[in-house]
Amino acid sequence: MSDFSNRLLEWYYSNRRILPWREDPTPYHVWLSEIMLQQTRVEAVKGYYARFLDTLPDVAALANASEDTCLKLWEGLGYYSRVRNLQKAAQEVMERCGGELPGTADELKKLPGIGPYTAAAIASIAFGERIPAIDGNLLRIYARLELYEESIRTPAAQKKAAQYFAEQMPERTAARNPLCEDGKGNTDGKGETTSAEGNGGINSNPCGDFNQALMDLGNAVCLPGSTPSCDRCPVADFCRIHKECPGKEVSLPFIPAAKEKKTELLTVFMIRSGDRTAVRKRAARGLLAGLYEFPNATGHLDDKEALAWLRKNQVEPVRIRKIVEAEHIFTHKKWIMQGYEVITDPFAENSIPFIMAGQDEITGKYCIPSAFSAYLDWLKAQ
Ligand code: SF4
Repeated sequence: MSDFSNRLLEWYYSNRRILPWREDPTPYHVWLSEIMLQQTRVEAVKGYYARFLDTLPDVAALANASEDTCLKLWEGLGYYSRVRNLQKAAQEVMERCGGELPGTADELKKLPGIGPYTAAAIASIAFGERIPAIDGNLLRIYARLELYEESIRTPAAQKKAAQYFAEQMPERTAARNPLCEDGKGNTDGKGETTSAEGNGGINSNPCGDFNQALMDLGNAVCLPGSTPSCDRCPVADFCRIHKECPGKEVSLPFIPAAKEKKTELLTVFMIRSGDRTAVRKRAARGLLAGLYEFPNATGHLDDKEALAWLRKNQVEPVRIRKIVEAEHIFTHKKWIMQGYEVITDPFAENSIPFIMAGQDEITGKYCIPSAFSAYLDWLKAQ
């Protein structure tokens, strides 16, 4: 094993984060956590992870759940295509693979929603495959270690980082893991816990640990956006930017300026009749597909235009007033929303072409994406 991985793994075994999915890294647990962690902070994921597993404890339960159950369990995490793909993949695993996730990155990549990074993370952590899981963290660390000054947002950078870490990665069964020696357990590459008694203190999954060590290094030491803690870094001796340009570590990686996000204006209608409020289901395709929302129109409508839109949708208001404005940022676009509260005549409620739902149903049954959270909060405060 290289000096690089020796030092990295040694550091990892004394500093690793204790995370729920690391305590019992079955393929299903690793897969679920990796999908949840895409674009979401670790702290935010913990509660969702526990709740999801309580309701859907294994691949079979996920495959057989209703779409609304899955969406509700995901509510607030955003990027709902992740949970849709998770379920599609679970159904495929049941049909095609007898309920067991395939054990290599190449096979995992064939499943919906599993890209190269996620496939490598699952394959290494749950099955012990020797493959680096290249994400933004590893690209940043690579750029600093190798003084890579080009953009890291290119396939060429990905390839170079993958080669670099693949060369440093230990063989499948080479590292000592003190966690085994003191009886705290280790994984055997199949998600089963083993102990020092079983393997003489030898870590049976150094490749998974190597990837997780780099994840933790990126999280706690080689930080993005602020000066990295090079004085605490286990691989500082191998780091070119630290040795050749001390004090300039934060200048890498080079990330080209992002394109400005497209802005869309929306008018959101909180149409209320008694204690019920109108919601509707979004289209089955496109942004936030199949989720529920408060009815809304494109553009910022003035009072007259708002009234015309409502009448066109068979809503006859008794009272209408402007309420909160809100903003929501997606990956590629931004919504700027203005709201109206619309009180309708309860006797005319039946003609409204939307679902009229009580607050309990809106919070407990219909999955309203966080893009509308300002309006959900407004409703709860009424
Ligand atoms: S020495 Fe500093 S810049 Fe280099 S890998 Fe370690 S923390 Fe990152």
